[in-house]
Order: sequence, then C-alpha cells, then structure tokens
Amino acid sequence: MLDKHQGARLANLWDDGKAAGMTEPEKLLYRSNLLGSDKRITNYGGGNTSAKVMEKDPLTGEMVEVLWVKGSGGDVGTIKMDGFSTLYMDKLRALKGIYRGVEFEDEMVGYLPHCTFNLNPRAASIDTPLHAYVPKPHVDHMHPDAIIAIAASKNSRELTSKIFGDEIGWLPWKRPGYELGLWLEKFCQENPDARGVVLESHGLFTWGDTAKEAYETTIEIINRAIAWFETENTGPAFGGRSKPVLAAADRAAIAKKLMPVIRGLISAGESKVGHFDDSQAVLDFVTSTSLEPLAALGTSCPDHFLRTKIRPLVVDFDPAQPDVGNTLAGLPEAIATYRADYAAYYERCKRADSPAMRDPNAVVYLVPGVGMITFAKDKATARISAEFYVNAINVMRGASGVSTYVGLPEQEAFDIEYWLLEEAKLQRMPKPKSLAGRIALVTGGAGGIGKATANRLMQEGACVVLADIDETALEAAQTELSTRYGKDFVRSVNMNVTSEAAVESGFGNALLAFGGLDILVSNAGLATSAAVEDTTLALWTKNMDILATGYFLVSREAFRIFRSQKAGGNVVFVASKNGLAASPGASAYCTAKAAEIHLARCLALEGASAQIRVNVVNPDAVLRGSKIWTGEWKEQRAAAYKMDVDELEAHYRERSMLKLSVFPEDIAEAIYFLASDMSAKSTGNIVNVDAGNAQSFTR
Ligand SMILES: [Zn+2]
Repeated sequence: MLDKHQGARLANLWDDGKAAGMTEPEKLLYRSNLLGSDKRITNYGGGNTSAKVMEKDPLTGEMVEVLWVKGSGGDVGTIKMDGFSTLYMDKLRALKGIYRGVEFEDEMVGYLPHCTFNLNPRAASIDTPLHAYVPKPHVDHMHPDAIIAIAASKNSRELTSKIFGDEIGWLPWKRPGYELGLWLEKFCQENPDARGVVLESHGLFTWGDTAKEAYETTIEIINRAIAWFETENTGPAFGGRSKPVLAAADRAAIAKKLMPVIRGLISAGESKVGHFDDSQAVLDFVTSTSLEPLAALGTSCPDHFLRTKIRPLVVDFDPAQPDVGNTLAGLPEAIATYRADYAAYYERCKRADSPAMRDPNAVVYLVPGVGMITFAKDKATARISAEFYVNAINVMRGASGVSTYVGLPEQEAFDIEYWLLEEAKLQRMPKPKSLAGRIALVTGGAGGIGKATANRLMQEGACVVLADIDETALEAAQTELSTRYGKDFVRSVNMNVTSEAAVESGFGNALLAFGGLDILVSNAGLATSAAVEDTTLALWTKNMDILATGYFLVSREAFRIFRSQKAGGNVVFVASKNGLAASPGASAYCTAKAAEIHLARCLALEGASAQIRVNVVNPDAVLRGSKIWTGEWKEQRAAAYKMDVDELEAHYRERSMLKLSVFPEDIAEAIYFLASDMSAKSTGNIVNVDAGNAQSFTR
C-alpha cells in the first residue's frame, strides 16, 4: 500500500479554453507550470520541458526551427518566459559534426552558447541535447516519484516492460549530457512508436506532437505507474514498523533539543539554518525496520543526492526508551564519523581534476520515531533538501515494496557531485551576504525599531523571528517582510517578555523554525512618566517587569541556546539615553533602563568566555513608527514641555547637538553593526544613537 501522497491519481489539468489563444512558447510555459505544480510529477528544480517551434530569424527574416527549453537553474513549476533558453535547431544538429566522443562530452556544453537564437541571455542547461535530439516537437523530462521507484529497482528494465509494454522504453543509467542525447535520438529512431522512455536511476522522458499531447502522455504514464504500485505494493511500508512514533508535542520537544546542538557541530565552515519535517511519509520511514539499511544505500536520482548528499545521518535515538541526554552526548562522535566517512568517499572516488572536497557534514538527519532534520546554508535550501529527501523516501518505499531498491553506484554519484560543470555553477553563485545563515530573534519585532531592525538584518541575509504581544501588528510585519525577502526568512511568535513560560515557548518555536539562534535583539519596551510621589507600585513594577525582568528572561533563554550550540552568540539591548541620564518625572522608567544597561554589562562579562557578546544601543526620541510614542506618553511629554504633540519631533531635533531627528533605521544600523562580525571584538559597549546629547556621554 502506498501512502496517500503517492496513491492518489494525478488530475489532468489541461484547459483547452485557456490554451486556445496561446502561441507555442506560451503553451510550453503553461504545460511546464502545470507539471511543476505537483511534487509527485517532479521535484523542485528537477526535470525540464521543451518545444521545437518555427520562428522568424531576426537576422535573415527567414523561418527557422528553434528549440525552446528550460534554461539552467530554475524550476518548471514557477518558470516564466525568460526562464527558457532558445537555440537554433540546425546549429544544435551541426554540433554532431564536432563531437569527439563520450570522454569529451563535457566540452559540448561550451558550444551551446554558440547556438543561441535571438541573443537570449538565459544560459542553456546540461540537459539541452536530451531535448534537441529527441525527434519530436514537444518533450517532457520529469522526475516522478512513482517512475523513479521503477527506475531505482534492481530489475527496472523488466518492470518497465511489464508495466508499459512497448509504449515506454528503457535506457541504462547514463549521466545526463551530450552522449545521453544521442542515445535518446537512437532510441526514437529504432522505436518510432514509443511514447517515452524510462532512464535507469533517473526519471522519465515523454513526448508528443502537440503541447497538449505531451502533457497528457506524461500524466497518463505516471498515473499508470501509480496504479501499478497500488495493486502490486500491498505489503507494509518499508517492511513494517519496528519503532514507536512519539506524540507530536514530544517530537517537537526532541527536535528543539537536537537542532541547536547539531547546528553548533556543523556550522564551523558556514552558518547553517535548519528545517524540521515530521510528515507521515517521513514518520513511516523513521519508524520502519528498513530505516538503517535503506538510508545507508543512499539516494538514487542525481537531483536527490545533489541536494541531500549521498546519504543521511541516522541519529542514535530510541523512541521506545527516549533518553535525549544520551543522544546529545553521542552527537559529536556521530557527526565526526559521518565527516570521516564522507572524506573517505571523496578520497576513494576523486579524479585528478576534481574540485576540492566540499563541506563534509550531513544535510539530512533522520531521528527514529521523531522525524527528519535538515541543515543547509539558508532556510530555503534546508526546506528544499527536506522535500527532496521525501521524494527519495517515496522512491525507496515504492522500489523496496516491489523489488530491491538500488542506489546509484558510488563513483557515478561522485562524478555528478563533483562534476566540473556543477562546480562551475557553484562558482558563479554570488558571494554570501554578511549575515547569511544567521538566525535572529527580535523582541518588540512588530514596532518601529523592531521592524526596522528585522528589515536591516534580513537585508544582510539573516533569518528573523519577530516576537511581539501585538498579534495584529505582528501579522502585518511578517507579511510585509516575507513579501520583501521571501517566506523562508521570517517567522513570528506571540511573546510576552514578562512571562517565563511565554519566553521559553517563543524561543522553542524559533528553534523549531530555524534550528538555532545567533542574535538576540532585546527591544520590547514601554515608557511611562509620573512624578515619584505619584508613581504607583503597579506603574513601578510594570517598568521593572518589561524593561528589567523581560530583558533578563529573554537573555537567559538566548544564553541557554548559545551554550548548547557552542558557537558563540550575540545580544543587543535597545536601552535608552535615560538609562544613563536622569530625566525628571520618569523615575520608574529611568531606573528600569539603568538596570537593563547594567544587566548587559554583567552578561557581557559572563558570556565572554563562550564568545557571547553583549552590547547596548541607546536611542533617544525615536518617534516615528514607535508604539511607545503613541497615546499617553507623547501627550505627557508634550505637556511636560508645554507644547503641541506635533511639535515634539522638532523639539527633540533642536534639543540634540547635531540638530537631527533620529529614526528607527538609524537605530537598526547600529544594531546591525553590533550584531555582525564587523564588531567582532566589541562587548560590554554602549553606542548612543541620539543625534548628540552631552548628558548621556558615557564615561
Ligand atoms: Zn533529470
């Protein structure tokens, strides 16, 4: 029995009405987006589509045949028109004349730009010859779980012919490239009636005379595979369950403990961001008898292991007798062993011209009874790696249910992982931003300074958790920032910083979202004013609760995470000029702010030996976007200075030495400096951002 994900049939989503007015390239785009919208058809970024179209040559005005094919990078589900490369078919055919044989096939990639039609800047992908040489106008190449399950079975050729007869052919494993393009052409010439071909350990090629026919053939063939598995693969998944599944809350609790420790152990080279997945497909696998042997075989489809490394690390954890302390204690050795195994694999398989060994840490961590943790250089990559491993799990489930699952031979896997063409792609990637892979939590994150800070940190590539008690503002801030930087980079938690339980659970959610923490910006605040004889105990306590106790509670939680990660840490307090300079009629506020600043000094002292830095930014009179500066406080201040509230900004500007207004962005800039490696040698400092105020000069 397959899980519900694989069991359901794919729907035919082609709409003749929609397609009616489309040009051929538009139909290609339409078909690509339809196919890529379902992960069962192809994984993220996997597979490609093409159409051979007659177009007017801009140079000669004559009609010429042009190959439209998904370009390098990109994803068929989200591709737009500019994601396709366009090449002259006659030039692509002419390349056969200069092909020197399989040992030189990589050099053919260098000729593809010479075939570009209409100066299209989109680089042609390595798969271009596979589409060019199939003598059909419309070609789909997909990585469907159900087909790869056949392709990764020991007897995949036999299974292919059993399920599809002569309609679908079979070709043995061959790394995608020029030679495979020629193989496909030969196959089509020898089997003119075939509708497609299964590529061993890889995926599916299908074709048609029209865009619609190609699409419908792809859907039909995958559905036939799904249906076949439904009738044939009727035993328990992965040979049956041998370990219990923990309850959802317990799974999350274990993941929160494991993630920062793993992260600390693997982030020496580059900071990494985590992702946790305990979906049913994953749980079926991590509780099965076949977990260890199947995981050891490695993934099959080249796309899968490029994202997930050749194999995952199975964490030593027994859900029947959960003892996370033991597991945590064993992690350093388990991770060191994985790294040593990876280095040995590199040494065994490397060639004279292989690129240097890359990060030897595992990407995928399988935790029996709990789920799957993935780590990568950013959240999107970690999430997508998890999606790929779910594809790999589906493949292993299918293949092991009807046959024997086989991973790709080690040398073939290595040759793809360290392919010079892949290396060139990596070298072309832009340099990472200064906070790439860093994780920050900002309290008061939905307010003026908090949101500006989150924005500044995200500009530099950080992932940010916004913590606030204002649910509406929190939602708006998350929407705004995720629209600007992408959903993967921002999460929000409702957090009352004066509640021990709320702080613990808020940080726990942050851990589950991103796997760790590097930066705490403690910014949640309030401001009150009253003469001392009018200051009620409640008002005094409220200031102390939020500004002193609240800062203590969030710092304590951050310190606990920093110490479990063993990778340093960074705390920035947003205090106030009034923490240094007394101000009339605000004793509760000023005293609590002074406590805050002194807490920062104590923490700087205590954290230094663990490379935890603690610094303070002192703003003054940041009115814009501030929730503190709305309502009472603003009116009280205006009354104290005997002026209209509208005159306050000008008043503060004139009061400053530099005669400048201070904005949330100015504070955010100072926070970014203290939170980044630019200030790596500063701790226990105070940076005033107040346009100059002699009273608050530090001494
Ligand atoms: Zn492929």
